[in-house]
Amino acid sequence: MEPMSANETVACDLCASPDHKLLFVKEGFRHVRCNNCGLVFVNPRLHDHLDRQSRTGTGSMGEDLLTPAQVRRLQRELTRLEPFRRLNRILEVGAGRGWFLGEASRLGWHTWAVEINSDALQRLRSKGIEKITTQPAEDLQAPEDSMDVVRMWDVIEHLSSPRKAVTAIHNALRPGGLLTLSTTNFASLSRRVNGPEWVYLNGADHIFLFEPATITRLLTEIGFRDIGIRTRSFNLRRKLYHPEEDLPPRWLILRPFRKIIDETLRFTLLGHQMLVTAVKR
Ligand SMILES: [Zn+2]
Repeated sequence: MEPMSANETVACDLCASPDHKLLFVKEGFRHVRCNNCGLVFVNPRLHDHLDRQSRTGTGSMGEDLLTPAQVRRLQRELTRLEPFRRLNRILEVGAGRGWFLGEASRLGWHTWAVEINSDALQRLRSKGIEKITTQPAEDLQAPEDSMDVVRMWDVIEHLSSPRKAVTAIHNALRPGGLLTLSTTNFASLSRRVNGPEWVYLNGADHIFLFEPATITRLLTEIGFRDIGIRTRSFNLRRKLYHPEEDLPPRWLILRPFRKIIDETLRFTLLGHQMLVTAVKR
């Protein structure tokens, strides 16, 4: 494990309030909830947070190879995006190894990848993606109203400022264009069961822990409408910061029921993964 770098204390990214209460400390990282808007975030956070994301960001790489089922899932996702295809331009923030944009490009989309992870960049270049930029999402400079779709999968929890990044994405989308994003759900059943040992709590990388209420507020304030949120999956795993060490699940009694719980959670907002869509006015 790398030595801790200097910390920086931040105000709430969603409402700018400096008031928050401590929820818990995990591996030295204070997880707080804003007293004004309810946003959960790590505070203070590592000063070199952004730099770490470009070197070691856990969210930015993705799989080495996709299974046929994973490829079909991407293809189904692209089919659902067809109604938004007017300018024929799609942008992915945190494109990882480019699996999604590679499929999009095969379907004739003009593709633009934003990726700060230097390892991922090498792989991206082989996927036929037209434009690859390496600036952080917060500094995205796409032409205004130029995109039909922006996709941001498992990225927002890593950003230095979700508000800045989503505002830049909003500018890049054409009116009626679609933002699709995923992130972990702090209000999920698995987080409630596992508490601070919830597998996704990793204070060096995951510095924003959204819930349906806080992601809705962010998107609404920036000017999105038709916000749709689904959640899925119940993950019983617990983990400390060291990625290789899993803790034994706390509620082992639930394990035999995991499939049933998974199926049931799809109809609630209690799944651990949030899938969010929003349309620019
Ligand atoms: Zn707040």
